[in-house]
Amino acid sequence: MSSKLELNVEISSDEVEIKLKGIIDEDSDFGKATNLNAKSYVFDFKDIESINSCGIREWINYLGTISDDAKIVYRNCTQVIIEQMGMVKGFVKEGAVVESLFAPYFCEDCDDEFKHHLNVSEIIEKKAPAVKCPKCSGENTEFDAIEAQYFSFIK
Ligand SMILES: [Zn+2]
Repeated sequence: MSSKLELNVEISSDEVEIKLKGIIDEDSDFGKATNLNAKSYVFDFKDIESINSCGIREWINYLGTISDDAKIVYRNCTQVIIEQMGMVKGFVKEGAVVESLFAPYFCEDCDDEFKHHLNVSEIIEKKAPAVKCPKCSGENTEFDAIEAQYFSFIK
């Protein structure tokens, strides 16, 4: 069966950057990103559309193949990834750093939702920062999820 997950692996000296695209499920093949023996791994989830329960298991198995000494960064986590982080123990490997994510917001003036890119350092005490609407540049926006839940991965 063909994998609906695409991995774009870029290796520079002892750091690898792995861009994940598509769907993580039971057919996902992490072979391209396995046995790289890098000191540092950056996973970019920007183009991940969905992940199912089998995919979560494949992901956690894959994390187990990475040395415990390696530095791991989770970048550009989409909503589906953030939700797993809050619910599934081990989804974020022990010691890994979540660097940035997309957060759902709603603009009252446009009556429309949008995703805003946040660095985790901008989230203070699990509160989403105020942001401007990308369409109308207005400030009549609000975070469109439950903050305590969405940011529960932050220790
Ligand atoms: Zn707006």
